[in-house]
Amino acid sequence: MNPTVETVDLDRPGSDAAGTATGAAAPLSAVVKILNPHGLHARPAARLVQEARRYDARVQLRNLDTGAGPVPATSLSRVAALGALHGHRVEVSATGAQAHEALQHVVALAERRFDEPAPAATEQAAPVPYNSGPLAASPGIAIGPAIPIRSVDVDVPDDDAQDEVVEWRRLRAAVAEVRRQIQRVRVTAAQEAGEGEAGIFDAHLMLIDDAELLDDVHTRIRTGLAAPRAWLDAIGAVESEFAAVPDPYLQARAADVHAVGQQVARVLVGAPEILFDGEGVVIADDLTPAQVAGLDPTRVKGLVLASGSPTGHNAILARSRAIPAIVAAGAGVLAIPPGSTIALDGTTGKLYVNPDEDTLHQLEALDERSRAVATLAMAAAHALAITADGVEILVGANIGSVADAKAAAAHGADLAGLVRTEFLYLDRREAPTVEQQVEVYRALAAALAGRRLTLRTLDVGGDKPLSYAPQPPENNPFLGMRGIRLALAQRELLHDQLRAIVHIAHETPVSVMFPMVSTLDELLEARRRLEHVIELDGRGTPDDLQVGIMVEVPATALKAEAFAPHVDFFSIGTNDLTQYALAAERGNPAVAAIGDPLDPGVLRLIDSVCRAASGRCLVAVCGELAADEKAAALLVALGVRELSVAPASAPRVKQAVRVVAASPGHDLLPQCLSASGPAEVRAMLS
Ligand code: PEP
Ligand code: MG
Repeated sequence: MNPTVETVDLDRPGSDAAGTATGAAAPLSAVVKILNPHGLHARPAARLVQEARRYDARVQLRNLDTGAGPVPATSLSRVAALGALHGHRVEVSATGAQAHEALQHVVALAERRFDEPAPAATEQAAPVPYNSGPLAASPGIAIGPAIPIRSVDVDVPDDDAQDEVVEWRRLRAAVAEVRRQIQRVRVTAAQEAGEGEAGIFDAHLMLIDDAELLDDVHTRIRTGLAAPRAWLDAIGAVESEFAAVPDPYLQARAADVHAVGQQVARVLVGAPEILFDGEGVVIADDLTPAQVAGLDPTRVKGLVLASGSPTGHNAILARSRAIPAIVAAGAGVLAIPPGSTIALDGTTGKLYVNPDEDTLHQLEALDERSRAVATLAMAAAHALAITADGVEILVGANIGSVADAKAAAAHGADLAGLVRTEFLYLDRREAPTVEQQVEVYRALAAALAGRRLTLRTLDVGGDKPLSYAPQPPENNPFLGMRGIRLALAQRELLHDQLRAIVHIAHETPVSVMFPMVSTLDELLEARRRLEHVIELDGRGTPDDLQVGIMVEVPATALKAEAFAPHVDFFSIGTNDLTQYALAAERGNPAVAAIGDPLDPGVLRLIDSVCRAASGRCLVAVCGELAADEKAAALLVALGVRELSVAPASAPRVKQAVRVVAASPGHDLLPQCLSASGPAEVRAMLS
């Protein structure tokens, strides 16, 4: 007999089996004894809730030892707050159509200790390796003390709520975003530390989807509270319940509730804030692009992220800010004690924890060499990049702030090949006015001293949600309303942005670029909106205004012929093009290695664009592939005439262009295009 279950009474007293379908009969009940060493804490509770939710039954729990309850077994917050400790007896009762099945399953689950690994196995688990597959994300060597970062609580102002429907939608969108964040971290944790450890994230997921909690938030919103306040108040109530349980282990779980609560609140108000003391190598689970943007490069020598991928926007920002970084380093890095010496090579993706003297010397020597190469490149940064056979290649900068624009000019960029205008929109509570936008564009133009500004229209959705352009939660946001799709739907937002763009285009050379275009109709409609704004402006088409699209969708690359007559340029966004071509989500560390832009499948798409554009319009590459010095030979040979990269990379890329030929005169192209995979392409390029 299994000792977990003390008494089980699966017979409904005074009732027959036929009564089960009505659900109106007296409850079935059983008493189980909790054998989990830390009681029914978040992880086992999450398993129980998961099981209970599967049945058409109302399952309730009561702690017979403390008298707490009854609470619904489908609510994680309520179950964990039952305070059911090791040895406590919990009465499980069920009513409804599937009461019998539900009860049987819950009892069986209790017998299996709610699927928690046996204590000995947990305690003796192999240490998580620090270096089980990090990926290079931003070049350079960084050496310094480890700084695990902590987040600061979000400060939620008690401002006015909008319409309750809008607030509720806002909340749902934030929960959906946090759900995606947690799912990503869970994948890493499961790979690095096993399913047992990853289970904690199931508990987090259940908490944010907890029907009782969400009902509570909804009720508070209906009383007139804005979503952030309603959320924090409701989650605060759950946190207090946990904190009140007379068991230190369960009390400590209040911290989990707090963390998840803050995660949602952060998304709701777009708060980037993270705090740390001193200088060194920052270690974090993941950072939002806004958080990376907020790092002070004079104090942050390098960055190690447990999750993420090299084409995520946080990695892009690290590159643009010249902070050496590695990503997808695995959950094990989060256990590195503060102050340990960390050395990382952001070019190779190698991470060293407390390296020996020899390794440190080698890395320092490597650092010195690459700095010497960088100095040489910097000396020639302001000269044009002309290939060995005399073709001029523009080297532009991808920028997302006025500081970036200054860095672009300082590093000799020929233009801003991609202005991620999202920086004007993200992390604020309402859209910027036309005047505010013009002011920022003017500051960019001033910093770039007459160089062309390629202003990409708002590209949000996917991994860049916008709180004041709420979208219904999507199962696949990268395949949903993002880029030009969202901009065309949000008429006001696009209209105002085009007004600001047209305004500044009368003052400085401007290209307007539409992102994520997948159909010709989208481009034609976007062009119509632009024409309309030009008409309203009344000054005629600005002299040097060019119009182009980003090629990020494989179908667009393949039908580039159809787009070519309607554009002045194509700019290939290899980050998104790669994720769509290889069906490998760019922020997902589990598939980051598959999403390789040198995959011949992606190269063929680039080839298709270059062929369609040949003799008609310019082809640029503004995805991260453009910064790969090895790829320069191939891209230029394919017909790419502009490479747009992080400002700090511009001098290096110019150097790379100077030693390649636009007409290589050997089989480089056909060999790369017909290679079996990216490794073969890389081998050929080196
Ligand atoms: C791209 O997709 O390659 C690109 C440059 O756009 P973003 O990285 O901003 O999505
Ligand atoms: Mg993109």
